[in-house]
Amino acid sequence: MPAYPQIVLKRSKTDSARRFHPWIFSGAIKRMDNGISEGDLVEVFSEDGEYLAIGHYAPGSIAVRIVGFERIANVRTLWDERFRNAYGLRKTAGLAENAATNAYRLINAEGDGMPGLIVDWYNGTAVMQTHSEGMHREAHTFAEILRAIYGERLRAVYHKPHSSKGSGKAGGQYLFGEKTGGLITENGLRFNVDWERGQKTGFFLDQRDNRSILSGYAQGKRVLNTFCYSGGFSVYAACAGASLVHSVDSSARAIEWTDENIALNETGSEHQSFVADVFDFLHGAPNDFYDVIVLDPPAFAKNISARHQAVQAYRRLNLAAFKKVAAGGIIFTFSCSQAVGPGMFSGAVTAAAIESGRNVRILRHLFQPADHPVNIYHPEGLYLKGLALAVW
Ligand code: SAH
Repeated sequence: MPAYPQIVLKRSKTDSARRFHPWIFSGAIKRMDNGISEGDLVEVFSEDGEYLAIGHYAPGSIAVRIVGFERIANVRTLWDERFRNAYGLRKTAGLAENAATNAYRLINAEGDGMPGLIVDWYNGTAVMQTHSEGMHREAHTFAEILRAIYGERLRAVYHKPHSSKGSGKAGGQYLFGEKTGGLITENGLRFNVDWERGQKTGFFLDQRDNRSILSGYAQGKRVLNTFCYSGGFSVYAACAGASLVHSVDSSARAIEWTDENIALNETGSEHQSFVADVFDFLHGAPNDFYDVIVLDPPAFAKNISARHQAVQAYRRLNLAAFKKVAAGGIIFTFSCSQAVGPGMFSGAVTAAAIESGRNVRILRHLFQPADHPVNIYHPEGLYLKGLALAVW
């Protein structure tokens, strides 16, 4: 068995690892071997010498991101197992090998036992994002594993490091194959995905199920899709027969992508897009005009310390929508801030509802889809939550 360097935890700090939480915080460490550097695999022990876990070391507040709770002889075998298991789960969830949907998340970090790693599948191209040095170092190994799993279906592997390591075109590279067209289908609808220049891996796969749900409310309606990015919700609404769809984003490039994606699909709707700040746009919008409003802002809280301000921003945003939506209208409102949990988010929306004085009912609680699974021992992994609301 390979000897990994060791970290020993303080006596009072072993509970979270025993409950299979995948992070060891730096304050839990009693001592560690000399010479451990960022990205190294380390074994974690209790003071009594009990083996607890193996994971990647990093010098920040999360000192170890755990990849397993059992001793391992060969880390490559562990990676193989994790990838095959993740693929099997996407098959079980009806996503892999589905002609109507050929884009899905294959590896969802902690949700697939791979903290620090995201792999999204876009119709033949796997786009990998590494958020830790440990996963970053293994990128070539993961590309090999992807080739073994997908065989001929894999045309390219694009590695897009996390922004702290330089992202975008300059930082990204093809580990296998070369640039291909980015055309995907999702529930039979067509989108072009630009993983080199786009946000995250290029497309917000996490809203797939919620976009479908929105379709059911869009026919014959005037729909406003705010923070539209590449127009996911807009395309679904237009294809479901909305009478009119307005898409708003502050990024001109996002609006170009939205227009392209609308053009890729046969829609009978009138579509108009606006490069604008959503708060300004909502303030200037006519009252009682929109029947359906989608609010899907970027994460307002990037960490716990920004939480209070984020909650206030959610309240203001939702208040602006409550003031504008037509009587009998529908609001789809979301938060993708990990630091703002579902209860806190509902609280912010409730505060906005009270302030607006409108009659508001919750039709549905919305979450991330099955290809973004949440490890039950890591509830922080549930980052996307939303509400479908009926407003009178
Ligand atoms: N709903 C999208 C994803 C939204 S990502 C989808 O399903 O694909 C968040 C988007 O909000 C980004 O495109 C970003 O450019 C945009 N954005 C951020 N702040 C904004 C603001 N104040 N006004 C308008 N757009 C904003």
